[in-house]
Amino acid sequence: MNRIILLCLSLLWTATAIPVDAQVAGDRATDRRPDDYRSRNFLIHTDLAKDDAEELLQKMETMLQIISRYWGAPSRKVIECYVIDDIKLWPPRSLPNEAVNAVNGGGLTIARGMRRGNQLNMNAIVYASNRFGTPQHEAVHAYCYQTFSSTGPTWYAEGMAELGNYWIENDSTVTAPDYVIRYLTQSDRKTLAEITDNQQQTGDGWRNYAWRWALCHFLVNNGNFHDRFRTVGVGYLTGKPASFERAFETQMEELDFEFQFFIDHLEQGFDVHRCAWDWKAKFREQKGTRPVIAKVKADKGWQSSGLKVISGQTYQLTARGAWKTADNAEEVSVGGDAAGSGSLLGTIYHDHQLSREFELGGKQTFTATATGNLMLRCRDEWNQLNDNKGTISVEFLSASDEAAIPARRASE
Ligand SMILES: [Zn+2]
Repeated sequence: MNRIILLCLSLLWTATAIPVDAQVAGDRATDRRPDDYRSRNFLIHTDLAKDDAEELLQKMETMLQIISRYWGAPSRKVIECYVIDDIKLWPPRSLPNEAVNAVNGGGLTIARGMRRGNQLNMNAIVYASNRFGTPQHEAVHAYCYQTFSSTGPTWYAEGMAELGNYWIENDSTVTAPDYVIRYLTQSDRKTLAEITDNQQQTGDGWRNYAWRWALCHFLVNNGNFHDRFRTVGVGYLTGKPASFERAFETQMEELDFEFQFFIDHLEQGFDVHRCAWDWKAKFREQKGTRPVIAKVKADKGWQSSGLKVISGQTYQLTARGAWKTADNAEEVSVGGDAAGSGSLLGTIYHDHQLSREFELGGKQTFTATATGNLMLRCRDEWNQLNDNKGTISVEFLSASDEAAIPARRASE
């Protein structure tokens, strides 16, 4: 019994704001004809110039390596792709009708085959425009079909395919294009339930693809959720019963909090792994003479101080050590440099909410404006933490009333 599956991507159809890629030029090498190019895992038929075709093959191989490593399964067979740069260079009827739509900036993966018990025999063919990373996107679908027989529910299939599209070797930071980031940070938030709704259809516009990418990127890279997400994903691909809600049932509030934080701070270079929340950290109120001691790394996001602060209570802090916020920056103490870069910042976490961040660097005391867990970080751009170096140690003691009075005066 043959099964035919169609998948398509409609990036261009609704995306009037997307800048047109300059490389789609009709006046280049008009004597070009579609030709075949092969690499270890791909056979590409394309009208691209030889150099461009070979560069694309290289990119596809790298992408395939990354996704096979992620899913723990090598590609079972060669992935055949038609990559169309200029449709006018293709002889009539050299492409199926459905594929002709693919020249419009989108793509299509057609999979045929069957699964009988453990026997899998699926063949997927990719038809893709050469634009917007569509060949890589579609090749993720083709790999999933040929290796596992399925691509999973739409949100997962398309989210992971977009991840494949943007994936860069040895760089797990955000690499999505600016228009995607602008849309996600400026539009109304979608809830996790909306993003993962199983009733969605493929090809429903780049905005939905953007949300799916964001959630998949976040879950793949955040150590708090990575393992469960991979298990659910492999379940989807292999047709086992798998449910996002069930997998994260006990973590849904944490997941939602961290995902909202990710969207709040989304920009190119943002590193989900570096900014993951430490849910296992222990916090205590400081009483008596034993201070609460925190170690804060310059190259991470919010980190636990170990101190539970009480609204209105004043604390003394003593910091030791130095750090820097760029390879070529000078080492500074918690006071930071003249521009404030490298100063020690705080925020108070309570019940999945954060207070506004406040300056702690250079202060000897501070008065808590809320009750909750004190979190600390080194001031730097959120997407530039990777080149930071150094750790600072901070001790907190509750200030006695006498000690608190001059501090309050000083801050007036
Ligand atoms: Zn797709």
